Amino acid sequence: LGALVRELHGAGPLSRSELGMRTGLTRSTVRALIGELATALLVTEEEPEPLGTPGRPSHLVRPNPLRPVSLGLEIAVDSIAGAVVGFGGDVLQSLRVDRPRGELSLDHTVADLAQLAARLDRFDEDSAIGIGVAIAGVVRRADGVVALAPNLGWRDIALSHALRQSLGTMLPIHIGNEADLGALAEARRGAARGASHILFVSGEVGVGGGVIVDGRPLNGIAGFAGEIGHMPLNPAGSACRCGSVGCWETEVGEDALLARAGRERGGGRDAVASVLHDASSGDERAQAALEHVGQWLGYGLAGLVNVLNPELIVLGGLFGRIYEQIADTVELRLDRYALADARRLVRVVPAALGEDAPLLGAAELAFETFLGDPAAWLRPRPALVELATA
Ligand SMILES: [Zn+2]
Repeated sequence: LGALVRELHGAGPLSRSELGMRTGLTRSTVRALIGELATALLVTEEEPEPLGTPGRPSHLVRPNPLRPVSLGLEIAVDSIAGAVVGFGGDVLQSLRVDRPRGELSLDHTVADLAQLAARLDRFDEDSAIGIGVAIAGVVRRADGVVALAPNLGWRDIALSHALRQSLGTMLPIHIGNEADLGALAEARRGAARGASHILFVSGEVGVGGGVIVDGRPLNGIAGFAGEIGHMPLNPAGSACRCGSVGCWETEVGEDALLARAGRERGGGRDAVASVLHDASSGDERAQAALEHVGQWLGYGLAGLVNVLNPELIVLGGLFGRIYEQIADTVELRLDRYALADARRLVRVVPAALGEDAPLLGAAELAFETFLGDPAAWLRPRPALVELATA
């Protein structure tokens, strides 16, 4: 059942015979299991259109996008966002709001998220599997505590507890690092579909990484792996918010780009857009800033290619937005500094889901409970029994 549900969630509507091929289950098993899912209102089956060819056409199985659903939330430095995602991957609703830099405290953040969640009227708690949260910080896997979010100024924050109170929900809340979740979303629905060795690199104010090795996320012993933004690359560089000096993100992060382009740090997405605009109309300072970021990005990626031997590097966030302008520089740096054999095997692409990759990954994180144990959803739920007897 889990295998079927995972295929349906990943691919959307599939024919019974396609489901059989993908899972290796027999025709009769697929039919029986789909019957159970249909009884529980998790899927609908459509009569096949008659084919012009011999053989019986196969029923189309369509996941019910309203049951279950998950709520994804994202806490970035410049914005917060929410999305309601249904079984089968449909994004039923999403919303992103910018926020001022002065309001990054935990209290502000959970209050803002509660306000945002209240506006997502497609989210029905009775049909919900859970809530996933993507955050620009280091998350301890065991208990979801945000151990460190340097660009929010957070340390050892029990985010799920605060969020539960602010949202007033009993649903399970799962917290994950934004780049890890961006990698998950790009692997499931975006630019890295079908790939199993993936490096997702996302830039905003900070730079995060999500690494998927052989189809599985690289977590490290506590869940802290992938903090590639804090690779010490330039001992002569500037101070980093993590307390160290010359971390990668001090050369390639949003503030580095803005400062080099002669803008104020902390300008956010609008300021980045204006740098891009100026660079394309010939402003040399803006062009040099982009060149600097491209060079240091390629330099750091070369080291990661040598360590991880990925097949795909997906550039998200800021890097996805400036990708066209920096692609040549990045590729040249990879040619120059990565080992030739690993270099030949890797492709660099911009994220397909854009800035929403971590947000959609957060919704996917909440779905994992369902994908791992769909049988729990076959039992009648109180609300449905009421419906049935009404
Ligand atoms: Zn650092």
